This record gives sequence, structure tokens and C-alpha cells, in this order.
Amino acid sequence: MFYHNWRCLLFYEDNLQTFRLPFPLLKVEYYSYGSNQKIKEVVFLVDKNKVEQAIRLLLEGIGEDTQREGLIETPKRIAKMCEEIYGGLGYEADEHLLKQFQVENNEMVLEKDITFYSMCEHHLMPFYGKAHLAYIPDGKVTGLSKLARTVEVYARRPQIQERMTVQIADALERVLKPKGIMVMLEAEHTCMTMRGIKKPGSRTVTTVTRGAFTDLEMQKLFLQMVKDS
Ligand SMILES: [Zn+2]
Repeated sequence: MFYHNWRCLLFYEDNLQTFRLPFPLLKVEYYSYGSNQKIKEVVFLVDKNKVEQAIRLLLEGIGEDTQREGLIETPKRIAKMCEEIYGGLGYEADEHLLKQFQVENNEMVLEKDITFYSMCEHHLMPFYGKAHLAYIPDGKVTGLSKLARTVEVYARRPQIQERMTVQIADALERVLKPKGIMVMLEAEHTCMTMRGIKKPGSRTVTTVTRGAFTDLEMQKLFLQMVKDS
């Protein structure tokens, strides 16, 4: 059972009514299995009406004319966009990482320069940059594209960089149970570069190390491999 992953939890159960769902906004897709219906997929939906109202109010609040040509479709556009940029909300990366392969040699796996875009939850402004993920397998590895997927799941929600770094490491630990993990995120926060202290080009770097990567030599190796192009 994956209690942290509601989609998986629901997938494995026959009777929807035994659950109280954590989010009210769901689209549930079924497939038939004999006389039973089983849940195929649960999709978390954005309440577009609410978002549209909010954007209209925001525009009014800053003194704009919501009826002028350039803005009239803006609430609708933003509501639609929210489905994509907040599409990771309510999900965990576990289902991606469950695609695994056995390996003989347990050498470091590094996927670097994974570009991501997320939203700072304090200002709802983008922060974006690169993620570098490394782990030392314990007999199994996941597909390389799944590491990028993992980053995406945790980027697509109102987020802070520090928590995102931990969530990625937690997912790797939970599903792959490797001997060591190191996650590093480097990002520019537009809430810092466009407003406030205005330091264009400044980057925030966060890291999480687990297991074998708590060793300084391993961290050095990681940094070296990240820097080498
Ligand atoms: Zn911010």
C-alpha cells in the first residue's frame, strides 16, 4: 500500500466508498473487471472557475481593466496553465521509480542538468534551474528518464527549493532503497531577482545527502562529476 501515493492506493482497491479522498477535485476513470468496476486513474483537477475568478479579482485589485482586449482571456488562460504548472500536486514520484532493473555492479548513477521550473509558494513566482541526482544502487536501478520525471512531479506545485530537494531524496530512498543518495538543486528565484533585493543571476543551491554520500570524499566526487561537462 502506498499511503503517500493516493493514486496507487485507489488503484489497488475495489471499493471507492471506503475512502475519504484528500482532495475534493477528482476525475476518476474506471475500467470494468468482470462484474466489478476498478479504478484506472484518479486525476487531480484544478477548479478553473475559482482560478478565473481569482485572476479577475487580482487584475481589478491592481487597477486593471479586465475587459480590455489583452486581458479578457487572461483568467481562462491562467486557469488552463495551472493544470500544467501545478499538475504534480497530490502526487508522489513512486509510480515512476517503480520501473526498476536488476544490476550486478553497484556504481554511482548520476543524472545531471535536469532542467526544472517550479513556483515559489511565498510569492507564486517561478524559480527554475537544474537538478542533479545521484544514487548508489543496492542491486536495482530505475530508468534514467524516471529521475527526470521525479524532479518534475515535485516541481509542479507551490514549492520551496529546500523542501523539493528533500522530497526528491525521500522518493529515491523510499522506492529504490539505495546505499546512498545525493540531490543538488541550483535555481534562480524570480522573486529575488525581479523584486526585493534584485540580484539578477544569483542562484540558490540546496543539497541533501544520505547514506554513502554523507562521506566527504563521495560528495567531492559528485561535485566533480556535476561540474565536468
Ligand atoms: Zn519567493
